Amino acid sequence: MRTHEAGALHGDFDFSALRPGWLSVPQDVNAILPELWSANVERSGGVLHLGGLSVEKLAAEFGTPAYVLDEDDFRARCRAWNDAFEGADVYYASKAFCSKAVLRAAAEEGLYVDVCTAGELAVALAAGLEPSRLGLHGNNKSLAELHQAIDLGVGRIVADSFTEIERLEAIAAELGKRPKVMVRVNVGVEAHTHEYIATAHEDQKFGFSLAGGDAYEAARRVLAAEHLDLVGLHSHIGSQIFDTAAFEVSAARVVRLHAKLQTDHDTVLPELDLGGGFGMAYTTQDDPQEPAVIAAALRGIVEHECAAAGIEVPRLSFEPGRALIGPAVFTLYEVGTVKPVTLSAGASRLYVSVDGGISDNIRTALYDATYSATLASRSSTAIPALARVVGKHCESGDIVVKDEFLPADIAPGDLIAVPGTGAYCRSMGSNYNHVPRPPVVAVRGGQARVILARETVDDLLRLDIG
Ligand SMILES: *Cc1c(COP(=O)(O)O)cnc(C)c1O
Repeated sequence: MRTHEAGALHGDFDFSALRPGWLSVPQDVNAILPELWSANVERSGGVLHLGGLSVEKLAAEFGTPAYVLDEDDFRARCRAWNDAFEGADVYYASKAFCSKAVLRAAAEEGLYVDVCTAGELAVALAAGLEPSRLGLHGNNKSLAELHQAIDLGVGRIVADSFTEIERLEAIAAELGKRPKVMVRVNVGVEAHTHEYIATAHEDQKFGFSLAGGDAYEAARRVLAAEHLDLVGLHSHIGSQIFDTAAFEVSAARVVRLHAKLQTDHDTVLPELDLGGGFGMAYTTQDDPQEPAVIAAALRGIVEHECAAAGIEVPRLSFEPGRALIGPAVFTLYEVGTVKPVTLSAGASRLYVSVDGGISDNIRTALYDATYSATLASRSSTAIPALARVVGKHCESGDIVVKDEFLPADIAPGDLIAVPGTGAYCRSMGSNYNHVPRPPVVAVRGGQARVILARETVDDLLRLDIG
């Protein structure tokens, strides 16, 4: 092992050329920061535990890599958001993570569920969810998907194009049904983390442009359609949003359209959906607000805009995905190799290779997402080393955690845990390099069970008919 890590403590080595500004050298490299971990995770006897179960036991029983779900934490988050948004409806955006056990848990905690394909719909039905408590999204739902949703009586279908409005009307007429429809509005606001751009973001595939008049026309056509029941407008402005400024702009715009439609067509639109995208903490640089704070702010914005427009406040709905499931999961990996890579002037980075990678977490490569990691199977008295957690795939962009301090004595056979991997990791997982996808192990009340099995090479070969 190179000795540069000692420099960090002695102040003669400058990590700053290699580490991002937000990442400071930890006082205690073994610390489990509560803001990054689910509620029932703790380090005890040096080893990371969830609900009293050690990661060594979990790894021995279920193998690595594995996604480990703190089910009590997920359920508590569902309740917290549902309580905060009392008087409104909370839809769990199942694309973040979709399995029978998780959708059933969300439903048991009182949430509705959003799906956007026949596949996600099939999981919700297999979980025993009521079709009336589901919403269907998507910019290119197939005829079969629309047909199935209308036939089942899915609670609402969010229309995304003029073509789709025609299809919905034709299918509803054929089936003799009158589905509830929302019109997805592209409000021209795109929010991401702490920044948002209030204009010039019409240039994307979702929804009907508000500025261009398409959203008004879409709502008019749904109102005019004999077999469609327009319940309201829908907007979703982005993901990993930390403040309500972007919602303020988008809600103002969508409420104005809502009011104009009511006046022009002498009707009442009973609902309004403001989407999801509420931020969560992946690293210490993220600082999400409490659900109650967000809910109060959003309610205030809508009430203010409705008062200004002189209309009643419609029933609101929201669609958090990552904020519910993201923080409830960590990924457990085993370290295979550790390689110090010298860069320049003695600066070096520790490349820690784990037994998964881009196939179980594509977000780092796809979105430049940041994550944290900790040595999970023991605590260490070694000094912190600037590390990068990488996977086993044949791709240099196969990075799980780009920048993190790990104990300098980290070694093959150690277990590493990466928190905050509940959303868009398993659901965006792939079989790149024919690596089977990891299982999801749920821990509830101190008991662990597999809720999504580990894929096997045989599963992959079964599809390869040669
Ligand atoms: C993705 C998506 C969500 C959830 O986004 P999160 O960032 O996971 O909260 C909600 N609504 C719609 C329409 C979406 O496309």
